[in-house]
Amino acid sequence: MTIKEYVKVKKAEIREYVLSMPRKPKLVIVQINEDEASYAYIRGKLKDAADLGIEAELIKLPLETSQEELLKKIDDLNHDSSVDGFIVQMPLPKQINEETVKLAIAPNKDVDGFHPLSKLDPCTPRGIMNYLNSKNIKIQGKNAVVIGRSNIVGKPMAKLLLAANANVTVLHSKTSFEDMRNYIANADIIVIAIGKAGFLDKKFTYKPDAVLVDVGINRLEDGLHGDAIANLPVGLQTPVPGGVGLLTRLALYENLLTIVNGK
Ligand code: NAP
Repeated sequence: MTIKEYVKVKKAEIREYVLSMPRKPKLVIVQINEDEASYAYIRGKLKDAADLGIEAELIKLPLETSQEELLKKIDDLNHDSSVDGFIVQMPLPKQINEETVKLAIAPNKDVDGFHPLSKLDPCTPRGIMNYLNSKNIKIQGKNAVVIGRSNIVGKPMAKLLLAANANVTVLHSKTSFEDMRNYIANADIIVIAIGKAGFLDKKFTYKPDAVLVDVGINRLEDGLHGDAIANLPVGLQTPVPGGVGLLTRLALYENLLTIVNGK
C-alpha cells in the first residue's frame, strides 16, 4: 500500500469514528505569517478537517502582532472549552519568541506535541511510527539512523525509535562524512530530516532492504524535493511529495482525537 492509499484508509476510519462522536472535535489554527509554505500546510490541514468531519477554524493575526497580544490569544484558547486543541503555525515574526509560544500552549491542548509536558508525540514522528507499524516493519534490535536533531523531528523521532527498542544513532551537521557513510551503510532504518535537497544519493551505500524515510521538504524551482534523491537502492523509500507530509497531516488529527478521548 502506498502512503497515499494508507492515508486514505486511515482517514475513512477517522471520519467514521468522528461521525459516531456526540459532538464534532474542534481545532484552531493561529497564523501570523505570510509564508508560502505555511499557507500550503494550512490549506492541507483545513482540507483534512473538512474530509474528516472535524471543525477547524483559522485565526489569522496581523504580522505586527506583539508577543503579548499573541500570548493573550493563546491564553484565551487555553481556556476556551469549545476548542479541543490548537496550533500556532510556525514560522513566527521576529518580535515573537518561538520557545515562549510553545511553552504558553496548555499541554492538554497542544496538538503539535511541542510542549515538554505534552503527553503527545510531535506529529511527524508519530505519523512515521504509525506508518512503519502498519507495514509491520521490524524495529526492535534494528540499526536506526536519524539524520537531523531538531526538536520537532530528529530528537522525538530518535526517542520513539529507542522506545521501540531500535539501536538508535543520531547524526547531524557536525558528523564527519566518513562516519555518516559508515552509519548509513549499516542502517536498517534511516530517517532523514535536514532540509538539504538530494543529500542522500549514490555517494552512500545502503543495505538493500533498508527502510528510508525522507522527511525533507525542499522547495526548488522545479517543485518539491526530499532530502534524498528518488529511487535509491533500498527496500522501501518514502516519496516526496506524497510521503511523510501526508503522514504528518494525519497524525495532527490523531493527536486531536487523543486529546478529546483523554478528557
Ligand atoms: P531544522 O530545525 O532546520 O534542523 C535541521 C537539522 O539537520 C539540524 O539538526 C542540523 O544539524 C541537521 N543538518 C543540517 N545540515 C546537515 C548536514 N549537511 N548533515 C547532517 N545534518 C545536517 O529542520 P527540521 O525542522 O527538522 O526540518 C528538516 C526538514 O524536514 C526540512 O526540509 C523541513 O521542511 C522538513 N519537514 C518536513 C515535515 C513533513 O511533514 N514532511 C515536517 C517537519 C519538517 P545541527 O543540529 O548540527 O545544526
